[in-house]
Amino acid sequence: MCRHIAWLGRPRTLASLVLEPPSSLLVQSYAPRRQRHGTVNADGWGVGWWAPDRPEPARWRAATPLWGSASFASVAPAVASTCVLAAVRSATVGMPVDETAAAPFTDGRWLLSHNGRVDRAVLPPAPGAESVCDSAQLAAVVLSRGAETLGDVVVEVGTADPAARLNLLATDGTRLLATTWGDTLSVLTTDEGTVVASEPFDDDPRWTDVPDRHLVTVTPDGTALEALQ
Ligand code: GLN
Repeated sequence: MCRHIAWLGRPRTLASLVLEPPSSLLVQSYAPRRQRHGTVNADGWGVGWWAPDRPEPARWRAATPLWGSASFASVAPAVASTCVLAAVRSATVGMPVDETAAAPFTDGRWLLSHNGRVDRAVLPPAPGAESVCDSAQLAAVVLSRGAETLGDVVVEVGTADPAARLNLLATDGTRLLATTWGDTLSVLTTDEGTVVASEPFDDDPRWTDVPDRHLVTVTPDGTALEALQ
């Protein structure tokens, strides 16, 4: 099971979100605190973010562990954004380990990450998928239907494959959408903005845990929670 995180709010550096907190995504890549499946997330990583006046996100992915990227560690303190989505990967058995299989996946303005696994046989064909990896196939299904269908797709796929774990996290730079379906998710809102993450990156008491089988929607106006059924 991978770990993912997203930010929506005032500009913050990639380092402040992904590298610097005491239990940052970087630390979660080798010592996650709440991970239920798998122990390390060493099969790749990815970070997507928005730059001013560019509607489509920039994205940097690799098939190697996040802790080994001195280049990212050098650039991350120098890049700030109002919206960021990042992930570290523990590949599911049988899935390819290359850059194209690392989240976030993208289509136009959207970025999408998946913590979990799904039987690809239950998914409709996804000709636009970036990889044969289950997460990339699922991302292509969601993004081809429109990210506003995220909750419906999770219920549909989760019903077709009762063993599926479907924690998804998506953004178009203006809002965050996240589902819980078999794994952990937490939200932290401060005066600066909102973080949605597989697990808290510090011990701030304002983190709240999202119950299983829910859809979280974060906009500049606030955060909404909806049961998935
Ligand atoms: N199934 C996906 C993959 O192989 C995600 C794995 C995960 O959440 N650990 O990349």
